[in-house]
Amino acid sequence: MNLIGGQWLPARSGRTMEDRNPADGDDVLGDVARSDGDDVDAAVAAAKAAYERWRATPMPARGDLLRRVGAFLERDKDELSRLMTREMGKTLKEARGDVQEGIDFAHFMAGQARAPMGETVPSELPRKLSMTLRHPIGIVGLITPWNFPIAIPTWKLWPALLAGNCVVLKPAEDTPLCAQRLLELLIEAGLPAGVVNVVQGIGEEAGAALVAHADVGAVSFTGSLDTGRLIAAECGRQMKRYSMELGSKNVSIVMPDADVELAVEGIAWGAFATSGQRCTATSRVVSLHPEFADALVDKVVTYRLGPGSDESVDLAPLINRAQRDRVMDYIRVGREDDRARLLTGGHVVDSGELAKGNYVAPTVFADASPSMRIAQEEIFGPVTAIIPAGDLDEAIAAANSTQFGLSASIYTNDVNAAMRAVTELEFGIVYVNAPTIGAEVQLPFGGMKRTGNGFREAGPHALDEFSEWKAVSIDFSARLQKAQFAEGE
Ligand code: ADP
Repeated sequence: MNLIGGQWLPARSGRTMEDRNPADGDDVLGDVARSDGDDVDAAVAAAKAAYERWRATPMPARGDLLRRVGAFLERDKDELSRLMTREMGKTLKEARGDVQEGIDFAHFMAGQARAPMGETVPSELPRKLSMTLRHPIGIVGLITPWNFPIAIPTWKLWPALLAGNCVVLKPAEDTPLCAQRLLELLIEAGLPAGVVNVVQGIGEEAGAALVAHADVGAVSFTGSLDTGRLIAAECGRQMKRYSMELGSKNVSIVMPDADVELAVEGIAWGAFATSGQRCTATSRVVSLHPEFADALVDKVVTYRLGPGSDESVDLAPLINRAQRDRVMDYIRVGREDDRARLLTGGHVVDSGELAKGNYVAPTVFADASPSMRIAQEEIFGPVTAIIPAGDLDEAIAAANSTQFGLSASIYTNDVNAAMRAVTELEFGIVYVNAPTIGAEVQLPFGGMKRTGNGFREAGPHALDEFSEWKAVSIDFSARLQKAQFAEGE
């Protein structure tokens, strides 16, 4: 259902789309509104009608809404996690982590409601007070992917709301019900009608209409580079603000002195958690350690594949058949390139019950070169490529040789190597002796180069996406004072 002006409604055209379980294609969760421009128009109009009142609501009162929704998310964490596993496949443990991120960030942002929101600045002139204030954008459009169906919408919703905006959210077509459940909780927490509206539907229809709507002042998007380019072009044409969180090709460096067990554990988790369908997934490893590759394979071959609802499963299915086929295409590309060797995996798993889902065996390539397609393009599946390097200079150069720059890590006990990696890696997130995944909400999240356009989500800077700075000066001298002019000029 769509949420428009506080009411749950079908698409105006009456059209629907199917929502299916990735672990069991026969399990249809429901038919969901397939919206178009008419629904987007109605949603934006509802947001506009609610805006003045919401903007004028004091920030701590807006923060209270986030505190309450955080508590409801906590209360319903288990139910939401089960829905998430059924709707997009990830394991229950991971689904709980996804919801927990939304809870943590609700509490973090609720706290920000009472934090300083600007600065006082000295003036050149006597009896003049200068300061900065945040001003909301107005109506913001949020377009989100399916891989973190609670966490990512909350990363955008909480700061958008705290900053005083009204919102139209277009959730991913693969995870409409997670978004619907999240909004039900927000309504229970006291969301005024029209402050957040939801249009469900396909990207090219509902999403594109939202981006193109003249009354939408900013678009916050998380998804693929190709879609990001389309959205950025339209926003640029209309001179509207846009913030982008796009693809990446994350990397862990394993130095010769690394604790190899720790590196294997961390990199296996980074590469294969959520079956590699994370924007921070470790899809490359630059290894200088002679034992690392074999040790990684020894670990990965023990992984159990199955539905995420089975607590003993390590690898859950991919989101849909199209994604499984895309991953298999990349594996074929890797196999056909003589420069790389397939160490393990490389095939679909569809025996017995698994035939109903979209499973690919965890796959490791070795001897990859940094320029290969499997070392350059985002695969979004359980595939990682090990690239050899002779020394730290070569390792850092290989790690940086990508158009993306979200997350990188280094495994070493050498403080000099660690500090060089920290300062020289061109990535927005860098870890030492930890995997590339596992962001915490109080830190800024985002990437360099083509991963984004300079904004950061989460952390205290999250408000930058959703507010403008206003410079305010109050002259209480009761006479005309001119900055940059000498007295009497
Ligand atoms: P992925 O499905 O690989 O995560 P996409 O970029 O295709 O990445 O999708 C992310 C989100 O963007 C989804 O909500 C999708 O519906 C939406 N989307 C896809 N194409 C467009 C488009 N042309 N305009 C606006 N939104 C889109």
